[in-house]
Amino acid sequence: MFTRWKKKLFEMTIKSPNGECVFCDLSQIKTSGILYEDERVVAFRDRRPRAALHLLVIPKEHIVNTSALNCSHFELVEHMLTVGKRVLQEECVANQISSKNLVFGFHQYPFTSVDHLHLHCIAPPFMPFYNRLRYRATWFSNYISIETLLEQLKS
Ligand SMILES: [Zn+2]
Ligand SMILES: [Zn+2]
Repeated sequence: MFTRWKKKLFEMTIKSPNGECVFCDLSQIKTSGILYEDERVVAFRDRRPRAALHLLVIPKEHIVNTSALNCSHFELVEHMLTVGKRVLQEECVANQISSKNLVFGFHQYPFTSVDHLHLHCIAPPFMPFYNRLRYRATWFSNYISIETLLEQLKS
């Protein structure tokens, strides 16, 4: 009974209301401007930037959120970080924004906005400043830094 209910919930979160995943549809992402793309990941600007620079890195494979990850995804997540760091550094230089205190992390279910795994890559300052709280781990696990996630996937 519980499994069935859980499965239902899971199916609900997989798709957006129109039945299509917005991040699986690259033509939609292209409108925000793709900054980097390879066979595994895509990097682009967040449509609703909450800091001086706010990029997203997503896997091309549809993965719902961090709870769907296991040790087999370690290399993929590590690659997302490598790409995120490189692209964000380049954007910092291009926009003359400090690359100190860069933030890389994920929201965790049910605090996820789009049901396709996306790594937030952020160069502060946050705008407005209280958006900092959205990208900070708390007791209710709304957010996880990529470093912590990689540690968890390793063990
Ligand atoms: Zn998707
Ligand atoms: Zn998010």
